[in-house]
Amino acid sequence: MPPTLPPPTPPPSKPRVVIIGCGFGGLEAARELACDHVEVTLVDRTNHHLFQPLLYQVATAGMSAPAISAPIRHVLREQIRRGHLTVLLATVTGIDVAARLVRLDDGTALPYEHLIVAAGSGHSYFGHDEWAEHAPGLKTLADAMELRNRVLKAFEQAERYPERHEEWLTFAVIGGGPTGVEMAGTLIEVARHTLPDQFRRVDTRQARVVLIEGSPRLLSAYGEELSEKARAQLQRLGVEVRTGCRVTDIHARGLRYLGEDGREHELVSRTVVWAAGVAASPLGKVLAEGTGVTLDRAGRVPVGPDLSIEGHPEISVIGDMAAALSHPRPGQRGEPVPVPGVSPAAKQMGRHAAACILRRLRGEPTRPFHYVDYGSLATIGRKAAVADVEFPLLGRRRFSGYAAWLFWLFVHIWFLIGFRHRLAAMTDWAWSYVTFERNARVMIEREPPPAPAEQQPGPSATPGWDIGRPAVAQEAPRQAAPRPH
Ligand SMILES: Cc1cc2nc3c(=O)[nH]c(=O)nc-3n(C[C@H](O)[C@H](O)[C@H](O)COP(=O)(O)OP(=O)(O)OC[C@H]3O[C@@H](n4cnc5c(N)ncnc54)[C@H](O)[C@@H]3O)c2cc1C
Repeated sequence: MPPTLPPPTPPPSKPRVVIIGCGFGGLEAARELACDHVEVTLVDRTNHHLFQPLLYQVATAGMSAPAISAPIRHVLREQIRRGHLTVLLATVTGIDVAARLVRLDDGTALPYEHLIVAAGSGHSYFGHDEWAEHAPGLKTLADAMELRNRVLKAFEQAERYPERHEEWLTFAVIGGGPTGVEMAGTLIEVARHTLPDQFRRVDTRQARVVLIEGSPRLLSAYGEELSEKARAQLQRLGVEVRTGCRVTDIHARGLRYLGEDGREHELVSRTVVWAAGVAASPLGKVLAEGTGVTLDRAGRVPVGPDLSIEGHPEISVIGDMAAALSHPRPGQRGEPVPVPGVSPAAKQMGRHAAACILRRLRGEPTRPFHYVDYGSLATIGRKAAVADVEFPLLGRRRFSGYAAWLFWLFVHIWFLIGFRHRLAAMTDWAWSYVTFERNARVMIEREPPPAPAEQQPGPSATPGWDIGRPAVAQEAPRQAAPRPH
């Protein structure tokens, strides 16, 4: 049995609550539980709380990492100072349900009387984990920095090897949900408005951004009208939208997909972004083994009305990890409906799970979770967004274009944690709005770029790269003429 951490001093006379993860759900739970009745320990593998909705801005060099993240200790400093909370930087590697222990990466374990699991989700490559190397996703700050390096480097490589500009200046984004749409819209803006006069040997305005979505519509959660508007706005910006297309292979120099025409197509692209699949944290599997519940297809843990696992009232699962239902308010009619994997849902679940723990400690019955849906927003690019929002008194409103973009901007700045972040975000945005400049265009790489010979092999040098296969339709490359000197 691994050693347990020494008990907090004075020895815990209070019930111990462990929260795994300080994302949207875990942070709210920690805030709600900051009281004298419980001893709370919050564990996260990073030292920061991250505002994921703006990760794409870091990945496209519009914002710096600290503008969308904040140290957990700083965010929760009041709770720590008052002695309500202990924060640990550690990765949770296991949960011993029977012994009520959370196991950490150094072999130690934390005992608990109540556990809130809020470890979020990661990428799913639909059984093709080998694609991850060529098509990184966007979930953490490290992912965003990796993508930013790849994007900026692609432009640099195009300038260095103008004869191969096509493959370097073609960007493929897989997945037409909010993240894919935001990435595609911003990438085309960078190529067409930010960079053109800073390159001499290539014309970055000739860059292609191809957005590939498996279903027939972009932003399928938004309703048909807004999906069509999103497509039209993206196309107006210059993004090539391919819906109803299934990616069948991703390799170092591009990808293949099955088109709506039933034929396989090859897209030559050195920069592929994965924004298609989401899978709950592997801790879901750990919980399933310990409690006997069956995970859903996305690896989420089914929870009861009060967000605890059936038969285990001491364990609550919240946020992206939970397959939870929203129940009608007391006195209201209706069937429970699934809760979406969005940040407001995670926050509300965090507060609810914490409130249920406190109710249990008072000997009161817990209440079923009700999700208040304020709507959804997705930005497409400069002055372009779609909004499906519930306004007090006015009810549900769907709108798009400039008004939706301004609303999106306001909401995202408002929900950024901390005054300094809001100010920094507003300054960055105002600056880039006026100048089209993107301030965070710094590449940070450990290794020097490989030698040109390694970097620029011919088509036949890469295994699996078979541009001339007759069964595969080659996407007609646009003749982007190198810029004259
Ligand atoms: C690129 C992107 C854009 C998005 N845009 C929007 C948007 O515009 N609007 C919206 O509503 N939602 C958006 N979402 C979804 C939203 O961010 C999630 O629904 C929300 O973050 C879920 O909250 P959570 O608390 O479940 O998990 P997260 O916020 O993901 O937090 C999980 C935490 O757990 C920690 N953790 C994970 N595993 C371990 C471990 N083993 N040990 C210790 N710590 C661990 C992580 O470090 C992290 O801090 C977006 C998501 C992404 C990735």
